[in-house]
Amino acid sequence: MEGPAFMLNPGPASASPQTLRALSTPVTYHNDPFFIERFRRAQDRLAQILETQHDVVLMQGECMLGLEAAARSLVWPGMRCLNLASGIYGKGMGMWLRSFGAEVIEIEVPFRDVVDPADVRRAFDEHPGISLVTVVHSETPCGTLTAVEEIGPIAKEHGALTLVDAASTLGGVPLRPDEWKLDVCVGASQKCLGAPAGISLMTVSDDAWGAMRANPDAPRASILSLLDWKELWLEQGKFPLTPSISDMYGVDAAFGEVLEIGVPRYFGRHERAAAACRAGIAAMGLELFPRSADIASPCVTAIALPDEIDDLQLCGHVRERYGVVLGDSEGAGKIVRIGHMGIAARSFEPVVGLSALGRGLMDFGVEVSLGDGLEAAAMAVGEAALETVQAPSV
Ligand SMILES: *Cc1c(COP(=O)(O)O)cnc(C)c1O
Repeated sequence: MEGPAFMLNPGPASASPQTLRALSTPVTYHNDPFFIERFRRAQDRLAQILETQHDVVLMQGECMLGLEAAARSLVWPGMRCLNLASGIYGKGMGMWLRSFGAEVIEIEVPFRDVVDPADVRRAFDEHPGISLVTVVHSETPCGTLTAVEEIGPIAKEHGALTLVDAASTLGGVPLRPDEWKLDVCVGASQKCLGAPAGISLMTVSDDAWGAMRANPDAPRASILSLLDWKELWLEQGKFPLTPSISDMYGVDAAFGEVLEIGVPRYFGRHERAAAACRAGIAAMGLELFPRSADIASPCVTAIALPDEIDDLQLCGHVRERYGVVLGDSEGAGKIVRIGHMGIAARSFEPVVGLSALGRGLMDFGVEVSLGDGLEAAAMAVGEAALETVQAPSV
């Protein structure tokens, strides 16, 4: 079977040629100085991308592992947590917190919306004793972006820690753990970085380490143990387990490429791709799923589908007929998605996504102004590219 021509699904994103090359580095012994040097370099590179002094932890396993490890390490039975639920991942976090015995206060909003930071402040006033706020930066299935830059400082002001699911944003969308006072951030290697899935990219503040050390329920001697990484690797330079050697080479190369391109420029690509998608779908006569463009995510565009169209059928058809992979709704609603992560945010890739989506919908009998949409998107890409060229180089 032939692989797809374009992967415009919201992760896993395609790997760049540099990352693919790094993945063919010989598999080395994990305690070999060469691997250790690369591992440390990857940590430093991530810290540079995130402008963070917090500890960076590259934990073994797809980012769901990092999220579960962080939640289990921070939460103890009876702890009062505030969970912000504006999508599937936020709701899932609430289920985890309850299953770990936390007393969960939840702010739930429709999937087209995000939680307003003012409501977070109100929740602190109404429910004293909240120790942890859990929030998803970009709800990838819904295509929304939550203002964690405002939520982090509110939590800190009230003495609470924050745990941020930054799976789909880390590396491609601004995220500043220190400045935004975010205690634990967890990102995925396979989204905006286009590296293999398999490493949780995490930052942990001193306050968060303090809370984990004080928590008798925090996992130890476990693949879910963040404290093992702190006490063995960060403090003694000994790996708690064998890291996935090849994945680490891939992740290190992906970080290197972001730094080489320049962090603002790399982030800018995602912004530009998102703006092009939004311009295109509006001109095509389609509707954005998020309630407004100001809460739309820079890494994925979620489009509302007409009631009669099934997202899985549509995506299957577009994949089979045109070789383009789009994102289905993951059960979040009447949604189809164009991912613009990593190399899928480059150049006219979003226009390819819009072409495939528009043509696919026409095949299902939906009226679409395809030409207008593609023109609007191409113009948006062109104008943004012009700005990049004219801007001082970074
Ligand atoms: C991709 C992603 C994850 C990781 O989830 P998978 O189901 O393993 O893909 C977690 N949170 C968010 C917001 C994501 O986008």
